[in-house]
Amino acid sequence: MDGKLIIGVDIGGTKSAVVLATEKGEIRQRRSEPTQPDLRGPLEVLERLAAMARELLTAENVPSGAVQGVGVSCGGPLDTKTGVVYAPPNLPGWEGVPVKQFFEKALALPVRIENDANATALAEWRFGAGKGTRNFVFLTMGTGIGGGVIIDGRLAHGANDLAGEIGHQTILMNGPLCGCGKRGCLEALASGPAIARLARESALYGRHRRVLTLAGGRPADITAHHIVEAAKEGDPFAIQILEEAGTYMGVGIANVMQMLNPECIALGTIAVHAGDLIMKPIEAAVEEFAWKRIRDACRIVPAALGDRGQDLAAVALWITDSD
Ligand SMILES: [Zn+2]
Repeated sequence: MDGKLIIGVDIGGTKSAVVLATEKGEIRQRRSEPTQPDLRGPLEVLERLAAMARELLTAENVPSGAVQGVGVSCGGPLDTKTGVVYAPPNLPGWEGVPVKQFFEKALALPVRIENDANATALAEWRFGAGKGTRNFVFLTMGTGIGGGVIIDGRLAHGANDLAGEIGHQTILMNGPLCGCGKRGCLEALASGPAIARLARESALYGRHRRVLTLAGGRPADITAHHIVEAAKEGDPFAIQILEEAGTYMGVGIANVMQMLNPECIALGTIAVHAGDLIMKPIEAAVEEFAWKRIRDACRIVPAALGDRGQDLAAVALWITDSD
């Protein structure tokens, strides 16, 4: 063994995974299973993950000395220094859970922890769309709009680990209510649920037939996925919805560009699935709301890692911190 192995632990609301990887991001072994936070308490989930990590080491016949450490990617908010997790929305009941301390004890290895959006940003920076840059921004466009910011070659944490909460910048005063309690956040205007809501509200006007058919005829069941599918078929209503969401997203991205002057911004999830249908309106808004010299220095691209991003997130956060 080369002594360069890393254990990556990804704790998600739906499923969790443990990987054994090299410093280059090659996954040697992987185990995953449903997290079931409603059925199992935090301690039970953590003990199961530690057991999975031990199974991986046994399966690869790895002596404990060959592992550098453990990276843990988990829903935030969390404190990266103490390693305590504070009630992530996707992990009900996880109030004040000392995740870092638990794995340090259970696996007798050094542990680093990062919120999942920051960890995925590090993975895209190390191994994906942002490789080779020093100023990079990653944004997911999924259930929420999460982000991570790398400035001058370092992940920005801010005063208390809330740097990069790009999805909660205000885009529209008195706009729709966001899950965070504020109004008019980018996340309330351009995330998957926000796109579905735009369609549902417009659906009242009767131009939504294709989207509605894809949703089984039930307006309440419309998701962003149905809108992307209908838009790909050329449905004008769905295209218009994506244009509207993309424009909001573009305004948010232009704001980020004006503040950080990044070389590359990578967009995940819906941006990857919808392609030009959302990238074009984003680019049009960026052209309108960001300076040319800033735009000229920056590429806006789809994220490159796809599902591998989550597996590599926990690995990347360990590697990046040890530089
Ligand atoms: Zn918000």
